[in-house]
Amino acid sequence: MALIVHKYGGTSMGSPERIRNVAKRVAKWARAGHQMVVVPSAMSGETNRLLGLAKEVSPAVQTPAVLRELDMIACTGEQVSVGLLALALQAEGMEAISYNGWQVPIKTDQAYTKARIESIDDARVRADLAAGRVVVITGFQGIDGDGNVTTLGRGGSDTSAVAVAAAMKAAECLIYTDVDGVYTTDPRVVPEARRLHTVSFEEMLEMASLGSKVLQIRSVEFAGKYRVPMRVLSSFTPWDIAIEEEAKSGTLITFEEDEKMEQAVVSGIAFNRDEAKITVMGVPDKPGIAYSILGKVADANIDVDVIIQNVSHDGRTDFSFTVHRNDYQRTVDLLNKDVVPALGAKEVLGDTKICKVSIVGIGMRSHAGVASTMFRALSEEGINIQMITTSEIKTSVVIDEKYMELAVRALHKAFDLDQPNT
Ligand code: ASP
Ligand code: MG
Repeated sequence: MALIVHKYGGTSMGSPERIRNVAKRVAKWARAGHQMVVVPSAMSGETNRLLGLAKEVSPAVQTPAVLRELDMIACTGEQVSVGLLALALQAEGMEAISYNGWQVPIKTDQAYTKARIESIDDARVRADLAAGRVVVITGFQGIDGDGNVTTLGRGGSDTSAVAVAAAMKAAECLIYTDVDGVYTTDPRVVPEARRLHTVSFEEMLEMASLGSKVLQIRSVEFAGKYRVPMRVLSSFTPWDIAIEEEAKSGTLITFEEDEKMEQAVVSGIAFNRDEAKITVMGVPDKPGIAYSILGKVADANIDVDVIIQNVSHDGRTDFSFTVHRNDYQRTVDLLNKDVVPALGAKEVLGDTKICKVSIVGIGMRSHAGVASTMFRALSEEGINIQMITTSEIKTSVVIDEKYMELAVRALHKAFDLDQPNT
């Protein structure tokens, strides 16, 4: 018997019938003797609907006062979910009780719409568990120091679940979702993509940050920091499959030291179409240049990803970086206004038709020649590389968007990810 946290995504909670299915699955675990805490998302589409309503009422600029109200609105989706799930559990003959984030409480900072969890008091939940109840807690929600409701950013229920699991020292946090695990790459792009039985949390962190949307990245950070055993699995298996079978399904996020097996060099191929490339041409090559360009961008709260600066000719160089596409125009405008004249740079060029493709694997630490295999595979397909960045466990390239699928398929093959699990 163990304390287990289950998290169910919006699709799994998408209709009364699906909620009844979730209740049956949770009841099965509780009847097997486990203490159960369940963290559901809002029903699918609900958060979008709520935020859409807000936008219709007021398309206003997002001042802190506006953001506060957005959280008041968005958090209600999860409140409905927990109530419905607790009812469904009761109908299954379980004792069940639901809580909003503030009732637990799950305390956060005050960054409305993207708050960070600061602490969780588990006393109330523990008392319920001890009394034999299943506890259902809203995902996505928290409360700040002044008693305002906050939300954790889109997809934040994953983080709620992992944080609750960490605070309660749960034996495992099971993330039930509409895919059956983490894949070597997106199966819609590469039909031969395989489900990974295990993936290290560092690889998962890279894959999440590189655009694999299975988990909210903060949940992976949390799992790493507090070493929460976490598994991603399907909520569409029949609810009554044997617990032993269910507990082994999906993908387990592991910690490297736990790994006994020989690691594949590359575990997955990630890609992301959300970035745009910006080049400031003809900047004088002198100390402080990177700061005068990127400092201004950072001051505007724009995140920068890949950065390159080349050697200079005649005292001038070109400086390129990528930003999220949503920030593209704002960045170009800001550079034209504040940076180009001040530096005496030549001009700003931009390209929104790019994508970033990355290979990820902790095996890259101990193997040479991984990047060159990547570059060879791309060159054999005639794909031009515009930018390259590397870290210990990943290599990313920026290429023309139109070659994305070709590149992902070529790399998947080049690193033998098409081969069946051994
Ligand atoms: N309901 C929230 C969203 O749609 C949180 C979540 O589902 O994880 O972003
Ligand atoms: Mg999600």
